[in-house]
Amino acid sequence: MRVLSVASEIYPLVKTGGLADVVGALPPALARRGVEMRTLIPGYPAVMARVEQGAVLRTYPSLLGVKARLVAATAGGLELIVLDAPELFDRPGGPYAGSDGSEHPDNWRRFAALSKAAADVAAGAAPAFQPDLVQAHDWQAAMAPAYMRYARTRLPTLVTIHNLAFQGHFPAAVFGALELPAEAWALDGVEYYGGVGFLKAGLQSASAISTVSPTYATEIATPAYGMGLEGLIAERADVLHGIVNGIDTQVWDPMRDPHLAAPFSARAKRGRDVNRAALEAHFGLEPGDGPILVVISRLAWQKGMDLLVEAADAIIGMGARVAVLGAGDGELEVRFKGLAARHPGRIGVTIGYDEPLAHLMQGGGDAIVIPSRFEPCGLTQLYGLRYGCVPVVARTGGLNDTVIDANPAALSAGVATGFQFAPIDTGGLISAVRRMMAAFGQRGVWTGLQRQGMKADVSWDASAGRYAALFSALLEAAGRNEA
Ligand code: ADP
Repeated sequence: MRVLSVASEIYPLVKTGGLADVVGALPPALARRGVEMRTLIPGYPAVMARVEQGAVLRTYPSLLGVKARLVAATAGGLELIVLDAPELFDRPGGPYAGSDGSEHPDNWRRFAALSKAAADVAAGAAPAFQPDLVQAHDWQAAMAPAYMRYARTRLPTLVTIHNLAFQGHFPAAVFGALELPAEAWALDGVEYYGGVGFLKAGLQSASAISTVSPTYATEIATPAYGMGLEGLIAERADVLHGIVNGIDTQVWDPMRDPHLAAPFSARAKRGRDVNRAALEAHFGLEPGDGPILVVISRLAWQKGMDLLVEAADAIIGMGARVAVLGAGDGELEVRFKGLAARHPGRIGVTIGYDEPLAHLMQGGGDAIVIPSRFEPCGLTQLYGLRYGCVPVVARTGGLNDTVIDANPAALSAGVATGFQFAPIDTGGLISAVRRMMAAFGQRGVWTGLQRQGMKADVSWDASAGRYAALFSALLEAAGRNEA
């Protein structure tokens, strides 16, 4: 079976969040299940510089008005198709915004072009790779099923939602430049509240929809989490699936992680103390016996970072220390810096994006705090489980599906792996930290939580099996035999 995966980021070439990790990890995990997956990504400078380019698969004199080529490429074992369109992608900054942080004004054209190119590959534009099925990730790729639908290309399609908060809404004026037939401007097409909705168009056009955890799949069919799309999602509930993300257990392996000061395993955890000391040194934390709570996060309302700021004094008062790595919302950055200034030695804050430091924090921190208001899946709790950094999480989305709360029943059954809290507010967070502190004080309980977490299967194995089964079911429903 051949699957074309379409995405705007892929680890390790371009990453702004969990999406990239998933897009990069799925192809090797699926290869073991007989699925040959190639990923179509934009030719950003970071991509063009790091891939080994192969054959030109297709040349466009004009793809939505710009010159473009589809180029087969490889990078670190990943099989890619790169959309080389310098006018769209060869510019400084990140994948969505310029160096000054403002979104590229032509994002609609950039990602419509990506989606249109995907539809062309689906229709046979790259005979060297004729997919049986297309998986489109998030709004940036979600127009692919719409383009296929209006081109009458009848391959099955799956839209995977990694975060419903980002939907790709654009003014109606762009419609004319999307090169879609007039019939696409419809309630059941790309039109959305008088404009164009990329994700909405994909959810409407795809054969099936998936999201990255079972709990989030049920949440997004409700007004509280549906971000305006709950009606459409509820209507499509019969083709909606929740498949939890895994992590790359080679990149995240405490025995072989080059970013750790010392390796460790579930049986031999002494290396954690060395990492902990390195963490104290990095964050200027005074050494102590109390636990270090770590936070590795986008600083955003979604992530409940304001709750953490509000709870910080109480948390410090319980004898914990806090190390924060994050970037994002300017106001939150200021508030976190203020906390560090008020609690020197107790709270350390690093503003920025630092992959090596993120590894050290998982390997040296005692607990990772994730107070998200909503969380499609979340990856940092999975890294935490694998590294013995016990997750303290809001009870929502994938956090609910991947962390087993240390309630009395779970503790006595020996299955608990962390702490969940609800309601998701400052009081909820503080009481979860209080429970965590109590457990930390009981050595047997704490090492039991760590051991259980480190034993949990957070690899892609089971979920890759679920994706492969879903792909097979979609092919079967479309009446196509597996190639
Ligand atoms: P989201 O994709 O919503 O940001 P996830 O938990 O799914 O949240 O994925 C976040 C990913 O980004 C994880 O791999 C996490 O380790 C990483 N990450 C987030 N913030 C930082 C940071 N400041 N420095 C390094 N890595 C970070």
